[in-house]
Amino acid sequence: MGAVEKRYPAAITPDMIAACGMDCTLCIGYLRERKPCAGCRGDDANKPSHCAVCVIKNCDQIAAGESGFCYECAKFPCSRLRQLDKRYRTKYGMSMIENLERIREGGLDAFVAFEQERWECSECGGVISVHRDACIYCGATKG
Ligand code: SF4
Ligand code: SF4
Ligand SMILES: [Zn+2]
Repeated sequence: MGAVEKRYPAAITPDMIAACGMDCTLCIGYLRERKPCAGCRGDDANKPSHCAVCVIKNCDQIAAGESGFCYECAKFPCSRLRQLDKRYRTKYGMSMIENLERIREGGLDAFVAFEQERWECSECGGVISVHRDACIYCGATKG
């Protein structure tokens, strides 16, 4: 991995969990120092276009629901979400659909606490990026 200037988030917070179940705190786009993305629910200034125009984020069913998450939708998990989930499961070992089921069952705060523990580097306490094989702060390998 090249040297990435990075930020050090104090904690994972509920507003960083996207409608699709992605925890944006884990995204390298959020953790980088230069022009960091504010997360799916944040402003679009530094958001890559594929996330700004995302059909899940902009889905009418999300706006129509109360929770702000896909799990509430009658079509859940729709083909778009299943596609995204498959890509992340295969490439990054993480499932958005599993995240959403966890939120539906235990609530958002419990999920955030779970994420905090799951993605905390055991060596340095930093957040492990889902997009990297090792901790971007100390280099410790995942797992
Ligand atoms: S780039 Fe996309 S996935 Fe990453 S933090 Fe921004 S909105 Fe979230
Ligand atoms: S699961 Fe429902 S709310 Fe989520 S993107 Fe698909 S259709 Fe929209
Ligand atoms: Zn570390």
